[in-house]
Amino acid sequence: MTALLLIIAVLAGCTYHAGARPASSAPPSPPPVGADLRSGRSDPVADPLYPGRGNADLDVLHYDLVLGWVPGTKLLTGAATLTVRAVRPVTALTLDFGHWYTVDAASVNGTTGTATLSPADKITVPATLAADATATLVVRYHGQPHEIRMPSSRPDATEGLGLRAERNGEAWTMQEPYGAFTWYPVNDIPSDKARYDLHVTVPAGWSAVAGGEFAGQAHGPAGDTFTWHGSYPQASYLTTLAIGHYARIDETGPHGVPVTIWTRSGTDDEIVEPLRQIPQMLGWLESRFGRYPFQSAGVVSVASTSAMETQEMVTLGGLIAQGAANRAAYLQEVILHELSHQWFGDAATPTDWRALWLNEGFATWIQFQWEIEHNRLTRKDWMASALKQDGDLRRRSGPPGAPHADAFAEPNVYTSAALLLQAIYDRIGDTAFLELLRDWAQQHRDANVDRAQFTAFVNQHTGQDLTTLINAWLDSPTTPPASLGGK
Ligand SMILES: [Zn+2]
Repeated sequence: MTALLLIIAVLAGCTYHAGARPASSAPPSPPPVGADLRSGRSDPVADPLYPGRGNADLDVLHYDLVLGWVPGTKLLTGAATLTVRAVRPVTALTLDFGHWYTVDAASVNGTTGTATLSPADKITVPATLAADATATLVVRYHGQPHEIRMPSSRPDATEGLGLRAERNGEAWTMQEPYGAFTWYPVNDIPSDKARYDLHVTVPAGWSAVAGGEFAGQAHGPAGDTFTWHGSYPQASYLTTLAIGHYARIDETGPHGVPVTIWTRSGTDDEIVEPLRQIPQMLGWLESRFGRYPFQSAGVVSVASTSAMETQEMVTLGGLIAQGAANRAAYLQEVILHELSHQWFGDAATPTDWRALWLNEGFATWIQFQWEIEHNRLTRKDWMASALKQDGDLRRRSGPPGAPHADAFAEPNVYTSAALLLQAIYDRIGDTAFLELLRDWAQQHRDANVDRAQFTAFVNQHTGQDLTTLINAWLDSPTTPPASLGGK
């Protein structure tokens, strides 16, 4: 997610410098089709911050979502086919799903079942499965989407979470830390990554944009069907759906990665120019953090004031910094931040929400590194400003390693966690630090990661025991001392 509260200094009028070209050849190959289900296998764990979401007894391997959207009535129809593995023996398949939907039919392995929806936004269909057995769950449903409240007091949290329907018939999502259950039945926790295929039918003239590779648009009697194929395992909070009147621009990223830019026709023209720099930004990121971890990249603009690192298709608020004098420069930083998450957050995803700092600390540090390398900021100024804020952030929101459940994505997990990374940088030096980040991202692709893994990795990679330094920055109620990189 973008760090709206973190605008420190942006120098207007700077020249954009393209990063060094990566030394690379062929694009990454997606896992072969037969491997789709195996690559969706995860080890789900209950989320301590948001225990009401998700089911650690189930591991969804694949979602095939056939959706229809009627802009005039805001009616969503869905046929969701889920391939589900039982982690432990179960007598029912219970997943997250909006209680307000009407379930028209449900089946398990072709046998009709009775679906029950609870006010806690859970759908349950009876099914007896042994440990490690898989089943095909089909749920057909319809209804109008509802937003849900974000567990936060951030200014952009007023938009809510989930699929939002606009008065003009557009629809779009923001769903961190959860909210995919507002449009499809889902195991809505970050530790259950799965493969996705989406087929969304909208009236002629409308477009439906989602994450993954754009696999084509077909005309039919019900409208136009847009098909999207997720090339890699994906956490539910990183899925996106945006429906509207879109203009599409095709670009090519490093080593031929297709980049598609979808902006709302006539509404977001001002943001097109910064978006056209995505290929250069991907090149800059690749040259430092290794190969772009997915098959395709893109951005879709929506009627939001926020931005989200949705996998293979960033969701960018077209309302961000409207009217600001240096809007283009700020948008570049937001886009760079969200693109960096493709490595740090999307490919390597926190096991649970206590480790949001593993996403935002990295994206924040990388965003500032990009600004420093582009002469928009000096490291000294950034550190002075960040250290000045750090004490207040810890006092107000707690240390970044122990975020409050009702204060999701506060600036402590951005700035204070970025200062942890800067402390490691100061300890081991520029070259070793960039190699550490690159190897962390590349060695944990398509996986979930937590604090213990990070600490062990840092200690092993650096050959030093940095446990005390890491724990101090993650746990201390005050800024760590100068001996640990603080003040
Ligand atoms: Zn972020």
